[in-house]
Amino acid sequence: MDRKVRVRFAPSPTGPLHIGGVRTALYNYLFAKKHGGDFILRIEDTDQTRFVPGAEEYIIEALSWLGINPNEGIGFGDGPHAPYRQSDRKPMYKQYAMQLVNAGHAYYAFDTSEELEAMRERLKASNVDSKYDAITRMAMKNSLTLPEDEVNKRLDSGDPYVIRIKLPKKDDVKFHDEIRGWVNINTSQMDDKVLYKSDGMPTYHLANVVDDYLMQITHVIRGEEWLPSAPLHVLLYRYLGWEDVMPKFAHLPLLLKPEGNGKLSKRDGDRLGFPVFPLEWKDPATQEISSGYRESGYLAEAVVNLLAFLGWNPGTHQELFSKSELIEAFSLDRVSKSGAKFDLNKAKWFNQQYVRHTDNKVLVEALKKQLSEHQIVADNAYLEAVCGLVKEKISFIKELWGISSYFFVDPTAYDTSVIEKKWNEKSPLVLQELIQLLQANDSFSAVTMEAAYHEALNKYGLSNKDFLQLLRVCISGVAGGPPLFELSALIGKTAIIKRLKNALDKINHS
Ligand code: GLU
Repeated sequence: MDRKVRVRFAPSPTGPLHIGGVRTALYNYLFAKKHGGDFILRIEDTDQTRFVPGAEEYIIEALSWLGINPNEGIGFGDGPHAPYRQSDRKPMYKQYAMQLVNAGHAYYAFDTSEELEAMRERLKASNVDSKYDAITRMAMKNSLTLPEDEVNKRLDSGDPYVIRIKLPKKDDVKFHDEIRGWVNINTSQMDDKVLYKSDGMPTYHLANVVDDYLMQITHVIRGEEWLPSAPLHVLLYRYLGWEDVMPKFAHLPLLLKPEGNGKLSKRDGDRLGFPVFPLEWKDPATQEISSGYRESGYLAEAVVNLLAFLGWNPGTHQELFSKSELIEAFSLDRVSKSGAKFDLNKAKWFNQQYVRHTDNKVLVEALKKQLSEHQIVADNAYLEAVCGLVKEKISFIKELWGISSYFFVDPTAYDTSVIEKKWNEKSPLVLQELIQLLQANDSFSAVTMEAAYHEALNKYGLSNKDFLQLLRVCISGVAGGPPLFELSALIGKTAIIKRLKNALDKINHS
């Protein structure tokens, strides 16, 4: 019988989550939802030396902001496999390390750091790849080389030790990766990794495999950087007798720098001006602040959509996907093997699309806040109409005030490049004519304004090309924007006439 799909996101709380990590969480989430399965958040904090305060809370907040909500796990409610933080599971691991030792698949090693260093030096001097493996372990202090009674004596007296996996000297480890196909590694390329330390903490490898087994994980979907660890994990499943329930592996492609040369890093973000973290992060050690997508004005739905496309595509031209559409469309066989280049313009484009589709009422609230910084109040109907007109033109909601300020205050400066190019002796005459026509007409709308404008143009033998942009600059101060007569209708007759007079006065005398 097929097992219920259960996947996990298993970050180590060593700092803020990188967007590559968020993408891993997202793909796990989409995969789980698609298959009616469970998505678990497990905190892998066995390496206490790398623990960073606040990182766990950051991970939880980032996932919550994006709506990538686990069914079980730290910060999202316990499930049947609690606890979900490895340091809280500490007592569970030793029995598995012992099972491996007793079956001859692992051994105690007592080497001090000086002895390990000496081994490295020796190997380096003879130009051999330095690793603790089937050959070198025989020259070291471990339970394979020391007499049994000495091993027992050392263990009884509390000598520090580690437990290492005992790899066969030359054996092929073959496994199927859902994205990469068959992967084959020879154990001669691997080393006898430490699984357990005498302080009672397992290392990542043992804890990860034991927890995936105990939590009944069916698919391990994680970043490519873990691919080299997978053969070791496969061997652990085999040696622990769990091969029949071994999860399927899927190693996601790397997120690459915009130039494509290497892994996307915080430095690339700093260099090119974009965030590589979902939320702002203040480093507790240095107090240095790194920007986040949320604080930079990205909408959560846009980030989900853009991250989904960094390494996956639906096989159609559709690019805008709601979360439920992503769940429907997602599959591991459309995840690419090769790295996905981060593209800042594309990221902005995604945000722009979501800003466009944001309800005007939501935009009104944001604009109100921005206006209050300039001591401006306006009624909701006006604000809603303004938002409706300008939202096509912005990539971020925080740009609302900048793009729409002329709806609230008369321009005091005029785009000089347009004035230099288009203002001539006929310009004041056309403006005067237009003012008169508008004053003479009781009604005022986009249609009557446009009609009056054409009448004034005709009188002086001018065309749209000569005057439309100039008129826009006279009304708004800037060269681009939403349809001019619509925005004029919104601003209203009195204000428009006043602005035309102002422009006439100021530009004529400049
Ligand atoms: N703790 C590992 C990390 O920080 C998890 C790797 C895995 O998913 O197995 O990414």
